[in-house]
Amino acid sequence: MTARDVVATWDHVGGQLVVGGTPLERLASRVGSTPFFAYDRARIDGRVATLRATLPPGIHLSYAMKANPMPAVVQHLARLVDSIDVASALEMQTALDTSMPASRISFAGPGKTEREIGQAVAAGVLIELESTTEARRVVAAGERLGLRPRVAVRVNPDFAVKGSGMRMGGGPQQFGVDAERVPDLLAELGSADVDVEGFHIFAGSQNLRAEIICEAQTRTVDLVLSLAEACPTPVRYVNLGGGFGIPYFEKDEPLDLTAIGDNLGDLLEHRIQPNLPEARTVIELGRYLVGESGVYVTRVVDRKESRGQVYLVVDGGMHHQLAASGNFGQAIRRNYPVAIGTQMAEPDDSPVTVVGCLCTPLDLLGDKVPLPRADIGDLVVVFQAGAYGLTASPTAFLGHPAPAEVLV
Ligand SMILES: *Cc1c(COP(=O)(O)O)cnc(C)c1O
Repeated sequence: MTARDVVATWDHVGGQLVVGGTPLERLASRVGSTPFFAYDRARIDGRVATLRATLPPGIHLSYAMKANPMPAVVQHLARLVDSIDVASALEMQTALDTSMPASRISFAGPGKTEREIGQAVAAGVLIELESTTEARRVVAAGERLGLRPRVAVRVNPDFAVKGSGMRMGGGPQQFGVDAERVPDLLAELGSADVDVEGFHIFAGSQNLRAEIICEAQTRTVDLVLSLAEACPTPVRYVNLGGGFGIPYFEKDEPLDLTAIGDNLGDLLEHRIQPNLPEARTVIELGRYLVGESGVYVTRVVDRKESRGQVYLVVDGGMHHQLAASGNFGQAIRRNYPVAIGTQMAEPDDSPVTVVGCLCTPLDLLGDKVPLPRADIGDLVVVFQAGAYGLTASPTAFLGHPAPAEVLV
């Protein structure tokens, strides 16, 4: 897989990239200013359709909305998936504004405040407990409000998942309750006025290796089955996490979803359904649902040459799309796929370096990328920008205006 392969999954007409059925300059006119993010509805629909066709029918799909909390995107996905996972009170409000019932919203994340817990209990969403202290706060909030909180225990597994871009389970963690402590917590919850629905295990993000995801899912199911014995009520909720990755860099290969679907089918049929007949089995995805639907579009404001290197200086940068600059969790900086969205039919010229408008050398969107000749006024497009883009970027840094976001 190369950057060119990623770009080739998009159409172009008359040299213009087509996003949401609209040629790029026309879309820019519609938006009214650059830079902007555009998310392509049809690509999100296609991704959900592929998941539905490849994962077994018994699997519930949840959208982890921190990947892209734009309200229009969340509204759109609320009609396509079975549940939404939120990780703050604001995300919860956005999810509650959609057609998704509160009973299908789950609230994860460490450090939930008393206020957030009170809001979540009052809303009737499922609270994923990240610690014993949090569990006690939830019980207290239920008593205060005269409501029976719905909870699931987020478990920090006794194994780690290799190959994740970000590891969030195994060993010591701020996330979840260590697996070996879960039986004690369940015993405590058994005598409290809460409804323990089941378990949530999320071990890592951005994994492109199906065999590792399958192994993690199998071990997760083993762990859930052993913990289920200590559960005060029948398990109705098994959230196996997700972590499905998307290709960003040269040599990244798209995930083999078929292998994951087959493994999940086996797990459902032979392990989960016979042992936990009431369980709703959930796969929770953020990046995989929206990441490849989004582009970040920014205009060339200067083209300069410095000692043999051509620089395209654009009106956007790392303050909007931090991940593409290499400063969001990457160990080594590599280029995201980029293209000149207004010169899609032209051959590559000599490599250029695309930099943003911030006064820091960190603001690099493409380092020596082979691209067609571009001039002032052309539009540079950064792909794979639908997840962890705008809201994962330091928008206040340097004080430039915020970009627009559109769902097209
Ligand atoms: C961030 C997060 C996700 C989404 O991860 P992706 O890699 O974007 O799919 C899912 N579940 C939990 C608990 C998370 O914190």
